Amino acid sequence: MEIYLDANATTPVLPQARAAALAVMEQHFGNPGSTHAHGLRARALLDAVRAKARRVLDVHDGRIVFTSGATEGIQTAVLSALLHLRAQGRRGALLYGATEHKAVPEALRHWNAVLGLDLPLRAIPVGPDGRHDLAWLHQHARDAGLVCTMAANNETGVISELDGIAQALADSPALWLVDGVQALGKLALRLAERRIDYAPFSGHKLYAPKGIGMLYVRAGAPFTPLIVGGGQEQGARSGTENMAGIAALGAVFDALLDGGVFAGAAQMRAQREQLLQALRAAFPQLQLHTPLAISLPTTLNFSVPGVSAAQLLDLFDAAGLRLSGGSACSAARALPSAVLKAMGRTDDEAAQAVRLSFGAADDASVLARAAERFAACGAALRAQGAGPLPTLAPLPPQADAAWTPAQLRAALARTPRPLVVDVRELAEQQLAPACGLAAEAAPLSQLDQALPRWQALPAELPVVFVCRSGARSARAAQLLRQAGRASCWSLAGGLALWSAAGADQDAGATPQAVV
Ligand code: PLP
Repeated sequence: MEIYLDANATTPVLPQARAAALAVMEQHFGNPGSTHAHGLRARALLDAVRAKARRVLDVHDGRIVFTSGATEGIQTAVLSALLHLRAQGRRGALLYGATEHKAVPEALRHWNAVLGLDLPLRAIPVGPDGRHDLAWLHQHARDAGLVCTMAANNETGVISELDGIAQALADSPALWLVDGVQALGKLALRLAERRIDYAPFSGHKLYAPKGIGMLYVRAGAPFTPLIVGGGQEQGARSGTENMAGIAALGAVFDALLDGGVFAGAAQMRAQREQLLQALRAAFPQLQLHTPLAISLPTTLNFSVPGVSAAQLLDLFDAAGLRLSGGSACSAARALPSAVLKAMGRTDDEAAQAVRLSFGAADDASVLARAAERFAACGAALRAQGAGPLPTLAPLPPQADAAWTPAQLRAALARTPRPLVVDVRELAEQQLAPACGLAAEAAPLSQLDQALPRWQALPAELPVVFVCRSGARSARAAQLLRQAGRASCWSLAGGLALWSAAGADQDAGATPQAVV
């Protein structure tokens, strides 16, 4: 069983939300702009979900605009604020928290350049606990035009001091944007009370599908639509509404408002504690970057000294535990976390940090099982002999050096049967055999020793390297090709796609072991 612990990146869709979306696609598919009965029913649904959004956010006036997600909401808010500053001839600085999601500083930079405003852009420093430096903010508030602060951080779970920020901005003319993505359904934002001008939200972080979100705009706050056309959303956001997404979001709001589906904060704190204890037992040197008392009860950010994030994530993945390093957007690039750097962590700590995040609808027994698997991961790493793996310089990509799962399947049915080599580290191989591929074990970190042996094999025997994602095996194939052996390959997409494609059965293999 795979255990998904990356809820801050995205969540599965709640069964009720899926059912609501399907009902809209199959039966209530009317366009809310149409005046016949189908259209009127769609309009009623749209209005009902907007009313529920108001109840969830506890706001009675201002706009709720449905968007494609938070990134669009952020663009809309930033564009609105900048056009307002321009119209007023004000040259206020654009301030954003140093740990904001990239969408915020990138939107500020982009629209500032597109509009030719050239307003100063400054990051609000944060302390070692990840919270904004309120004294700094107070000092710069008078000269600010727009201030952007997230409600809770996606990498560490740190909850911002919104009351303190509101106080620091009390005498400021600045507009205030609060990115509410990670707070939706978890924290009461008290938007109206705190005079927050803009708050973008995203459905897919709270069990609705991707492609639906909403933007709250305070009554009287400047607003300019980002998308114009048919005048939908009272002209605030044109384009036929994403009714399936809106219906799904409505079902999530029902679950929030009616109770019974999502765990309460106390229960989630206890679950997080259980996971943390398991991690500490498995990795006694664990360094925690999430200050527990001031963070979302669903998030843990930690590092294990001497073990890179990539190494740790490979290990967890082999145990069927899906965690991530930093934010989902930068995960593919494996950069050291800018959030942890802003919190004063060293380069090593920022490069080793891993995020665990679960959701309020997760099953307690599954989380307990995850805790058991962490113990197995710790034991496997100790058995392998923990130590940093060499950092490998990137090699230029090579065309035609990878096989798809279908090509490997076909090759396995031919003679000579290819030699399959698993280049994952030994701890990973111990946690999960290579989907029964009967592979020879040769961890990438020890590949040098095995190269001469493969070079000596008959030229017509294909050698195919496999790993978790296809990255390490591509490197192994390149190294062997550089050493002069042409007939070698990697498995594109790695064992992740091989098992997902159900290739185990086709290859007559045994199912993947799960710890
Ligand atoms: N803000 C925060 C804090 C996030 O975590 C994310 C998603 O990763 C976003 C903004 C962007 O949200 P969306 O994916 O809906 O565009």
